[in-house]
Amino acid sequence: MQGSYYQRCRRPWTLPFLGEEPMPEYAQLKARLKGGLLTDEPLSRHTSFRIGGPADALVLAETLEDLKACLDFAQEQGLPLFILAAGTNLLVRDGGMRGLVLKLEGDFKSMAFDGRRVRCGAGANLALLSRRAGEASLSGLEFAIGIPGTLGGGLVMNAGAHGGELSRVVRRLGTLERGELRECPAEEAGFTYRGSRFKGGSGLILWADLELVPGDYETIQARMKEALDQRRGSQPLALPNAGCVFKNPPGASAGRLIEECGLKGLRRGGATVSTLHANFIVNEGGARASDVLGLMQVVRERVKKEKGVSLENEVLVVGMDE
Ligand SMILES: Cc1cc2nc3c(=O)[nH]c(=O)nc-3n(C[C@H](O)[C@H](O)[C@H](O)COP(=O)(O)OP(=O)(O)OC[C@H]3O[C@@H](n4cnc5c(N)ncnc54)[C@H](O)[C@@H]3O)c2cc1C
Repeated sequence: MQGSYYQRCRRPWTLPFLGEEPMPEYAQLKARLKGGLLTDEPLSRHTSFRIGGPADALVLAETLEDLKACLDFAQEQGLPLFILAAGTNLLVRDGGMRGLVLKLEGDFKSMAFDGRRVRCGAGANLALLSRRAGEASLSGLEFAIGIPGTLGGGLVMNAGAHGGELSRVVRRLGTLERGELRECPAEEAGFTYRGSRFKGGSGLILWADLELVPGDYETIQARMKEALDQRRGSQPLALPNAGCVFKNPPGASAGRLIEECGLKGLRRGGATVSTLHANFIVNEGGARASDVLGLMQVVRERVKKEKGVSLENEVLVVGMDE
């Protein structure tokens, strides 16, 4: 979707001086939306890392019509389009993002339980869905109680913890792909360890059908409590972060490898390798994406040199350098 407008300039406000194409008429799009549109919006306000430069336009899409209007506008204007959910697995670079950044709000947060099945909007909070399922004595989502973010982001990442992952309970997805509304069985979602075929931005997840198993209320609550307690004791939850930075290599723990290389506490600018969990980088105040990227580079090189293991990113790095 990268149009000529964006191939020629990194910052749209340089255009008036170039005297070429005009800036996109975001006000026209805003007038067509039920939801809101914010221009030059700092994405640090929308990521759990509290890091990220500005989006040219951040759209809070509330209805399918809002989404379609955004897709049409992006196509007409040759703008890139990116879905930002809760931003809990993202590192947005300091230059921010060009074009349209979409958040799914309103209708996309719905949850409808029907027996052991639930149809849930992609914008719904995953932990809330897990809690609601537990309240209905439905088992299968206890693992997700402490995973921040939305169902949509969780599906794209195939989020998992405590031996569970979303791919095991999802049966069907509603998507918008190349402008077409589709329904696809979970087998066509291409789920892998912390990934799916939607990870590269090839389509938008609108909703999913999940199938859970009737269980004992008290047992489900106990499992959730255990999952939360375990997290509180082992993750630096008081400081902004984006969860695990690197994927666990097959048969190993990325956190343990980083710790064994003596990298806990390593600092660059406002970013530090957590002293509590070495696979977390925390923003201790004023960290920039460049600080985090610098730390990630050092960690990757040291683990490769000392352990012979190439670490792969779990956190998704998006946007432009400043
Ligand atoms: C403290 C902490 C603990 C964490 N613990 C875990 C854990 O235990 N297990 C785990 O797996 N993860 C964990 N994470 C990482 C993160 O929470 C998950 O990856 C989460 O599922 C991301 O959801 P999100 O809504 O924030 O997605 P975002 O980070 O906003 O987006 C992730 C990707 O999905 C895309 N996307 C989002 N919604 C849609 C949609 N509807 N359609 C198409 N594309 C979409 C985005 O474009 C982006 O590429 C943790 C993070 C934090 C901060």
